[in-house]
Amino acid sequence: MIELRNITKVYNPKKRNQFTALSEVSVTIEDGEFVAIVGESGSGKSTLLHIIGLLDSFTSGEYLLNGQSTVGEKESALARLRASKIGFVKQDFALIENYTVLDNVMLPLYPIKASDKRKKALNVIERLGIKSLADKDVSQLSGGEKQRVAISRAIVAQPEIILADEPTGSLDSKTGDEIFEIFRELNSSGITVIMVTHDNRLADQCGRQIAIKDGRLI
Ligand code: ADP
Ligand code: MG
Repeated sequence: MIELRNITKVYNPKKRNQFTALSEVSVTIEDGEFVAIVGESGSGKSTLLHIIGLLDSFTSGEYLLNGQSTVGEKESALARLRASKIGFVKQDFALIENYTVLDNVMLPLYPIKASDKRKKALNVIERLGIKSLADKDVSQLSGGEKQRVAISRAIVAQPEIILADEPTGSLDSKTGDEIFEIFRELNSSGITVIMVTHDNRLADQCGRQIAIKDGRLI
């Protein structure tokens, strides 16, 4: 369970160009939910997702993950939590272009010292329908294929939560629908899915929408 209590995020807090990206955001997301985060560009969606994913800190407030406060935890402890519980699909795929598909997907398995890395990665890419691309460099793939690699990497360590930042944003609508379908299947298998999207049609198919405007939930 994800519990955010009065989360405020100020960028550059000590500088003149400080900017309040989130103001007093409180939200609870139960295990197994499928949540869309919607809002205009610049409203704070990515900031919120990064905080939930323990990829960014916040200025004030409290974040409980499975009942445990993340405030004051060392970076190494947060990294362990992230590696074991959270899969992140970043906005621009964030894949290593000159690595093969398989090498990209295996990456999250090193910090958790998993056994049978190759086999686990192969199983996941098979599930996502890209097993035949295993030894191709990512730079040779289409957008939809890259997104499948990014999702494979996000789920290979069997996280409880998947966070995706506009995963269909750069895809044509047919490919976007296929990618959305993958998230739906992952959610059906019990994983909590939280997806930032501009696409109202997709947001409407999620279990719940969290709307954000100027850093506040509405
Ligand atoms: P969204 O994902 O909804 O487009 P973001 O969460 O990326 O919005 O950003 C929210 C606001 O915070 C934007 O106005 C953005 O310019 C600002 N912002 C994001 N990152 C930084 C940063 N590192 N320093 C200062 N302002 C930032
Ligand atoms: Mg964003």
